[in-house]
Amino acid sequence: MSDSAERAPLFEIFSSIQGEATHVGERHLFVRLAGCDLDCVFCDTPASRRIPEQARLFLPSGVRELPNPLSADDLVAAVAALDEESGPHHMISITGGEPLLFVPFLQAVLPRWRTRGGRILLETGGHRPDELAAVLGHIDVVMVDVKIASSAGIETSATVQRRFLGLASRVECTVKVVVSEATTTAEIESVASMVSEVAPQAPLILQPVSGAKFGPPTGAHALLLQRAAMRQHHDTRVIVQTHRILHLR
Ligand code: SF4
Repeated sequence: MSDSAERAPLFEIFSSIQGEATHVGERHLFVRLAGCDLDCVFCDTPASRRIPEQARLFLPSGVRELPNPLSADDLVAAVAALDEESGPHHMISITGGEPLLFVPFLQAVLPRWRTRGGRILLETGGHRPDELAAVLGHIDVVMVDVKIASSAGIETSATVQRRFLGLASRVECTVKVVVSEATTTAEIESVASMVSEVAPQAPLILQPVSGAKFGPPTGAHALLLQRAAMRQHHDTRVIVQTHRILHLR
């Protein structure tokens, strides 16, 4: 049985394609935790920042409701049921919200999947380095969402970002930055320079914003931002959110 420290609020569990960044197109089993300590203006999952009474498990045979907070045992059983009906999956993607708010829970569930050969991708805002250090041994891929003012409306301190990226680069790491019509080459050069210095093996993904206070960049603007970034960090790619094209979660 799981103790209370090994419980966490879930928002939803579902199977879909990974629509972002370097693992785009792979079939992932998504575990979306509820609750976030940031306030990005581009947030595409605002409902997941609050904790629902029931988490939703999207099985092909129907939606099942699970009372929050879930125990580690409950989540492992839910993931096994979804994998049975929708698998196989390339990876389990842990997303949110901000998953690193729930370190004891992650420490309880992640080793159970990995010992069975499952690969784990963690998507995070990149602002909690101590918490990343506590779970990094159970993670295969870290997708760090670096916040910039022209799309997120907030910025994480450079010191914290550098420490986080330095830790994340001990495993496979991808840095994603959402860009808008307001994003400047100076902003992107600053991010690219940091990635080049602290996590030189990490691809830098420029992801055009979708639906927020700021509109997306034009194609020409995206090319301009990519060129500016590539002068600092060669492996810079422009990738849109592909799951949206197919109207998937
Ligand atoms: S970190 Fe993610 S969940 Fe939190 S506000 Fe930003 S986009 Fe939304």
